[in-house]
Amino acid sequence: MNLILMGPPGAGKGTQAENICIKYHIPQISTGDMLREARKEQTKLGKEAESFMVAGKLVPDEVVIGIVDERLAKSDCQNGFLLDGFPRTVPQADSLAQILTRRNKKIEAVVSLDVPDTLVIERLCGRRVCGDCGASYHVAFAPSKKEDVCDKCSGGLIQRKDDSEVTIKERLRVYRDQTQPLISYYQQKGLLKAIDGTGTVKEIGERIGKALEAVV
Ligand code: AMP
Repeated sequence: MNLILMGPPGAGKGTQAENICIKYHIPQISTGDMLREARKEQTKLGKEAESFMVAGKLVPDEVVIGIVDERLAKSDCQNGFLLDGFPRTVPQADSLAQILTRRNKKIEAVVSLDVPDTLVIERLCGRRVCGDCGASYHVAFAPSKKEDVCDKCSGGLIQRKDDSEVTIKERLRVYRDQTQPLISYYQQKGLLKAIDGTGTVKEIGERIGKALEAVV
């Protein structure tokens, strides 16, 4: 199954993506994770992306399209994939369609998580991630067993630089201006599955599962 998972920052995409990928045995392709990894390694790509990410802006289309094109060529994407955080602009969506056509593939469903801004801000301000393995927690909604220590690998928990309130507001503005138009873009193609992104991880997961039943 070839899927896209969309939603504003803090919609819970990462958590839901992980569960969908386990269920359907497909790789999760998160452009945000790939860019963060590149920054950590201080590669050319990482250095190029850094200033955009810290400011809550989008990394230029051609940069992200290039890394997705390369990633989709890998053998683990042959039987499906889930794109998490890509596409985020109409030009990215157009390029994705071209990349997939070239490979005789197409997107089968676009899951879009709907979450009000107030909840997004609350979720992101309290988000903590493991500096080592990337696992995600929330100080109030999903705390680690031991404060500031990852349950999975005992790494230290940190706040992402782009989870400050000023940057969150900018990321939301960018989402509304540049990414939200993709909702009608995919609706017109009959691919959109709009999901209520409020409630528990389990409740949201069940809604997604139901929506995807019709696709498999
Ligand atoms: P995320 O973890 O998906 O919220 O992404 C974190 C940051 O990485 C974003 O705020 C952007 O700066 C950058 N980024 C991730 N995916 C994309 C994309 N598809 N297009 C442009 N920038 C991206």
